[in-house]
Amino acid sequence: MQLRQSNIERLADGAVYDTLIIGGGINGAVCAAALAGRGVKVGLVEQGDFAGMTSMWSSNLIWGGIKYMESRDFKLVRELCVSRNHLIKHYPSTVQEIRFLTTITKSFRWHPLMLWAGTWIYWLFGNGFTRVPRLPSLSTINREEPVINTEPAIGCFEYSDAFLHDNDARFVWNFVRTAMNSGCVAANYVEATGFERQGDLWHVGLKDVMSGREWTVKTKTLVNACGPLADRTNALADKHTEHRHVLSKGIHLIVDQITPNKRVLAFFDEDGRLFFAIPMGTRTCIGTTDTRTEDPHAAITDDDVKFVLDNINARLSLGKPLDRDDIISTRCGVRPLAVQNTSGKDRDFLQLSRKHEIDSDINQGFISIFGGKLTDCINVGEEIVDLVKTMGIDIRFPDYRWYGEPVDAVRDEFFHQARLMKLDDYTDASASEPLSTRLWRRYAAHAIGILEYIREDPRQAEILIEGTEYIRAEVRQAARREMITKLEDFLRRRSKISLVSRQETIRQSAGLMEACEILFGDQAQKRFDEYFRDHPVTNGIARDPGAGPLPADGATNDPATEHQEKTAAQRQEGDFETLNW
Ligand SMILES: Cc1cc2nc3c(=O)[nH]c(=O)nc-3n(C[C@H](O)[C@H](O)[C@H](O)COP(=O)(O)OP(=O)(O)OC[C@H]3O[C@@H](n4cnc5c(N)ncnc54)[C@H](O)[C@@H]3O)c2cc1C
Repeated sequence: MQLRQSNIERLADGAVYDTLIIGGGINGAVCAAALAGRGVKVGLVEQGDFAGMTSMWSSNLIWGGIKYMESRDFKLVRELCVSRNHLIKHYPSTVQEIRFLTTITKSFRWHPLMLWAGTWIYWLFGNGFTRVPRLPSLSTINREEPVINTEPAIGCFEYSDAFLHDNDARFVWNFVRTAMNSGCVAANYVEATGFERQGDLWHVGLKDVMSGREWTVKTKTLVNACGPLADRTNALADKHTEHRHVLSKGIHLIVDQITPNKRVLAFFDEDGRLFFAIPMGTRTCIGTTDTRTEDPHAAITDDDVKFVLDNINARLSLGKPLDRDDIISTRCGVRPLAVQNTSGKDRDFLQLSRKHEIDSDINQGFISIFGGKLTDCINVGEEIVDLVKTMGIDIRFPDYRWYGEPVDAVRDEFFHQARLMKLDDYTDASASEPLSTRLWRRYAAHAIGILEYIREDPRQAEILIEGTEYIRAEVRQAARREMITKLEDFLRRRSKISLVSRQETIRQSAGLMEACEILFGDQAQKRFDEYFRDHPVTNGIARDPGAGPLPADGATNDPATEHQEKTAAQRQEGDFETLNW
């Protein structure tokens, strides 16, 4: 909390920023890391928590988008494959290559051999950086992945892409933290409420949504990285842009691991769209959907759940089909897709390009980012640095590499120290990987500080919240360095505890209150109560804010509407603490 408070004081001390970034999703986070690393005086404000919107609801894939080949978006696929390779190379412990095993059923619109040829073209688009595609026979699939129902299948193919070993929100957070290490002044739960250009400066109204405090900050340039809310922000700033957003809802269901093999199972759903069963530690994440919506806060519906369950059950041979009781948690978000502002509303939005677009007003120092993918994030950061430069901002360190894991010498030092203190002996029997591997991936150079906590007190290496892998020392580190303002920030975004554990398990964990005390001090009980108030369990499943409550089986009510009404009501009541996801 102290880090956030001191950053808010700095944002309010009257200083003029070179660039103020509005929105702390992946796009805002990479802009902050790129600009701050290159020597620009940057501020970053996020109205909820960092990665509290679209960037915590992705499929966690870092991929070239093989499915966009069907819409002949070859340029995008080529660019995304190169971006994917770049991330695998620079984040070897976080962004990892993974095999995708795709099953094709009878009467599919493409012949298997065409698809097989397509995977080779895809591989070539990626410069052959990943393992070569494979064409396993159905009997091989029966042997290797007996969970797949091969009865309706006529073929399979396997190729490589990559995924985020931890989760999207953690990936975003690490860019925010990197930005702060380079001097960026960032704060979560601070909303930009108004924009006015006076002379050469933007005057931006800010509001601390935790305390209600309001003030104005001055900046030479502004970056609108508000994702699905970018159009709203442009309207507030009276900016007319070449692009705007069309929104598409996607949901995921998290269930117990359906196969022990670490590979993505890919299928075509009944509408012919690719959907996946993606490994998530001891769980599997199934999705996604692609439904047009006008609502940036769209919520999960009964139909969404049924659609995913029906499709996955039709393609797997499980002893017992998956049902609602198997769902541990849900994810639901909207993709902001960039379209020309002049384009009509009736375009087939499934065919819309997933490429990002950046509009700018050079004279007024205003930039808007539309669309995009996590996969393309480094390019977004680089493009924004170039644009800010053309707006007259001095880029003092143009050659500084602002992304990537630390150099080998730092890594070697960490693992050497870890070996000397026999760190991996502390690994819990239930853990999915050695403690040293996990700490390095999550904290990189700052994992060395965690070793110090454990040297001081070996209890720091104990798992604090039962059923998870998070040790006491990590919670201490999070309290100091990770700007955790609400309990959800820790349970859902800095960690993925609430994604992979049932709500009741979390609530009953004896260590949770101790975690709250470490994170929030005398506010511990308040934050604990707030979390369980804001995350009611519906049908045994915790609601991910934004995902909305899971409707009762066969319910006819529309939770999207309920969620919208609730949000509107909260706005009127001024309940800012529950508003801003
Ligand atoms: C279901 C789904 C699956 C996806 N899967 C993948 C995938 O596998 N791989 C991939 O590469 N991409 C994927 N994507 C796309 C990717 O997640 C998005 O493109 C990306 O997260 C968008 O990031 P963003 O920063 O633009 O938006 P966001 O993450 O939404 O960030 C915008 C932020 O701005 C904040 N904000 C808005 N207004 C204000 C204000 N006035 N003041 C302060 N803050 C404000 C919001 O609170 C929000 O946090 C997926 C998307 C979805 C929905």
